[in-house]
Amino acid sequence: MNEKRFRLKGEQVSRFVYADNAATTPVSSAVIDAMMPCFTQDFGNPSSLHQAGRRAKDVLDSARASIASSLGCEPSEIYFTSCGTESDNWAIRGAASRMKKKGRTHIVTTKIEHHAVLHTCEALEREGYTVTYVGVDEYGRVDLNELRAAVSDKTALVSVMYANNEVGTIQPIREAAEIAHSVGAIMFTDAVQAVGAIEINLEELPVDMLSFSGHKLHAPKGIGALYIRRGLVIDNLIEGGGQEKRRRGGTENLPYIVGLAKALEIAVNKIKDLPRVEKMRDRLISELTKIPYSRLNGHPTERLPGNVNIGFEFIEGESMLLWLDISGICASTGSACSSASLDPSHVLLAMGVPHERAHGSLRLSISHDTTDEDIDYIIETLPPIIEKLRNMSPLWEEIVKKEAAKV
Ligand SMILES: *Cc1c(COP(=O)(O)O)cnc(C)c1O
Repeated sequence: MNEKRFRLKGEQVSRFVYADNAATTPVSSAVIDAMMPCFTQDFGNPSSLHQAGRRAKDVLDSARASIASSLGCEPSEIYFTSCGTESDNWAIRGAASRMKKKGRTHIVTTKIEHHAVLHTCEALEREGYTVTYVGVDEYGRVDLNELRAAVSDKTALVSVMYANNEVGTIQPIREAAEIAHSVGAIMFTDAVQAVGAIEINLEELPVDMLSFSGHKLHAPKGIGALYIRRGLVIDNLIEGGGQEKRRRGGTENLPYIVGLAKALEIAVNKIKDLPRVEKMRDRLISELTKIPYSRLNGHPTERLPGNVNIGFEFIEGESMLLWLDISGICASTGSACSSASLDPSHVLLAMGVPHERAHGSLRLSISHDTTDEDIDYIIETLPPIIEKLRNMSPLWEEIVKKEAAKV
């Protein structure tokens, strides 16, 4: 972020630290620059036959080619959608209805998927499909034995997310795909958190479909894509004109498609800089877990470079967020999508994290834009907030008394 300072209501000026990149990211200036000509010069409809249309079609083709080369697939395997949620819906619904015609009406997914996947699967259950929700271990890694036991020759689709949006755990996708393929099922992965954050090479990854979204990787909100392996046919979700080889109707959002391609190109170039992000992540983890009664949520090593998720006992995650916000730090309790409800996160509960710690969980998601000074600021700001909140808790009072009695 360029703007590191912002003005609170009065005169007071405080730091601004954006540590919620898993919810969304700012659009980078290089991405905006790449998009601008599409609003005025290359504004044509790629389906029009005249020169403005042809010009737009060229821009569309090169964006698709650029994305394909970033991910190691063919341009013809990339389909643009309106967002990650649409891609997830399309992959799951499209595969389910297609495979139903072959007598396969069973879907296997995990308990820790994003709601774009979970709620689609729940809707399909109401429409007569059966769904198995496979569990995860204490680190949030999918249980491969349970997955192996769940699939059968009735399984249409296996849907396992590449990396979890709340705790950052990276899944054994290759192994999951092998299990799916062993029974002839389609393998889909929601890679919205992974694409742009870690290296992904579809040439080597045996998945049939993979979804991603612009706004998680410094492109705008409202653009997504679905990779569909060549030769795989799924049913359409959005009917309309002949766009996207008649598989997804709607005039292409050319500026945002160009933005997505640029953002992905930048992300791929920055992969070599990931150790710096991981170092900042690990410093946050090691300093913040020094706070008593705290514990890292998620996997110690198989985790996204920018993800920190820590559970603090005797505290409400929401109160922590409010105090951090007052200090200019944007964080999250887990998932922006469930922030409207006070139920503990389904991901943490599936990992067996006790309710007390799930309620006091905090997610900090950093990016290449984060600086060491931002990390210092979080490390000095959070502990006094936790102390203040705990001092207001009757449960904490009892703990302090017990500890005092021990000495
Ligand atoms: C953000 C997110 C989505 C939804 O993507 P949108 O573009 O916001 O619709 C889906 N899956 C995961 C894992 C996400 O993090």
